[in-house]
Amino acid sequence: MARYYLAVCRQCRRSGEKLMLKGNKCFSHCTFDKRPKPPGPQPSRPRRMSDRGTQLREKQKIRYTFGMLEREFRRFFAEAERQPGVTGDTLMLLLERRLDNVVYRLGLADSRAQARQLVRHGHIMVGGKNVDIPSYLVKEADTLAFKEQSLKTGYYKRVLEVIESKSVPQWLTLDRKNLTCKVVSLPTTADLDQKLDARAAVEYYSR
Ligand code: SF4
Repeated sequence: MARYYLAVCRQCRRSGEKLMLKGNKCFSHCTFDKRPKPPGPQPSRPRRMSDRGTQLREKQKIRYTFGMLEREFRRFFAEAERQPGVTGDTLMLLLERRLDNVVYRLGLADSRAQARQLVRHGHIMVGGKNVDIPSYLVKEADTLAFKEQSLKTGYYKRVLEVIESKSVPQWLTLDRKNLTCKVVSLPTTADLDQKLDARAAVEYYSR
């Protein structure tokens, strides 16, 4: 696990900014604060990054933020290209609808990595059925809930204690007493993280 956390922090160092990939832990022990430079040997003089390098960095930033491997990210990109509309926006809207992202956005997990683990371990049900696929795309009117056995866990009780202070995007509703959710509408571009530059990712793949 320690190795995994180290690798995650390297992603922030490579991106040149704090991506907050470890949730609350990022506020207390942040590697980027101590070592903000990219991993590996440093050039003797600072070099200007090429356009291609910038596009790659922005694309990687999105991929790291959603905790995806390149192959899976490419699959999402290909799907976004197939759909009508602006590819960058479509890509981000597809990523926003991932089940692990929704669990994170609801405040049921501290980070997307933790949300992914919750889904993979089968704690989350969609429409009354177990769904353990983090890349599952939620649809309008989908309902989310913890599995019955998961309601007895210490994790569920801890989430109940802190959920009051969490805000929820307007395309989702959350019953804070029972930790159940409904997708009231699909996300729009107004709901997206404005720090991520999907246009650069599109340019990177378009060459
Ligand atoms: Fe690591 Fe979080 Fe700091 Fe990034 S922001 S370097 S993930 S501790």
